Amino acid sequence: MNKSYLELQGIRKKFGDSTVLNDVYLSIREGELVTLLGPSGCGKSTLLRCIAGLTELDGGRIVLGQQDLTNLAPRNREVGMVFQSYALFPNLTVSENIEYGLKMRGAGKKERANRSEELLALIDLEDKRDVYPQNLSGGQQQRVALARALAVQPKVLLLDEPLSALDAKIRKNLRTEIREIQKRLQMTTVFVTHDQEEALTVSDRICIMNKGNIVQDGTPEQLYSTPRTEFVARFMGSYN
Ligand code: ADP
Ligand code: MG
Repeated sequence: MNKSYLELQGIRKKFGDSTVLNDVYLSIREGELVTLLGPSGCGKSTLLRCIAGLTELDGGRIVLGQQDLTNLAPRNREVGMVFQSYALFPNLTVSENIEYGLKMRGAGKKERANRSEELLALIDLEDKRDVYPQNLSGGQQQRVALARALAVQPKVLLLDEPLSALDAKIRKNLRTEIREIQKRLQMTTVFVTHDQEEALTVSDRICIMNKGNIVQDGTPEQLYSTPRTEFVARFMGSYN
């Protein structure tokens, strides 16, 4: 629980001439929920995509436990990802969506069904197993996306603004629910948001990002009470 588990070592990424990640170092402990908080365009999604293997690095290494992920294909990284847009398969039912990753890995019907039932219970949607995504609310769809990401028992969960598309009330309920599930599973998680209140509520630790850099890293209390720069202070709302 206390040793470093996921290590980002000097991650660099450019798109054309523009440097999007500028030598990012970050070390996350097993079971920890770390939030990347920063304005739109600062590189949060790109950093998650690098961890997931969806974007190639220009420099640096990513290490998970004893394993160097840097050159591994996405499917071999044991990383689950949830997007702002849910991105469920519209032609599959809820349980088929949840079982999708297991099916790809060749898991049998019985194993898939058992796992799917476990996850449906976890997200409290057992009565929706045979429903198609378009018949679910946004919050329900995002819970299914979470269950789908967890189905293959990833070692790390990446959440890219999972609440941003939802109404305020649902957003608050779901953030509490996500945090409870994360704690119950002791799931190592990187959570991305541009909303400081959300970050303050769900995180063990927050990394403030600006222009491709992590400018300060600390507990919610530390960042709120002792911001190191005016940018951090403004972002945390402690500036006055
Ligand atoms: P955030 O998630 O913090 O809003 P992003 O990581 O999506 O930021 O983007 C960081 C910067 O990289 C932005 O300027 C964005 O326009 C640029 N960018 C992201 N993806 C690509 C891409 N595939 N090609 C070119 N530029 C990109
Ligand atoms: Mg983004």
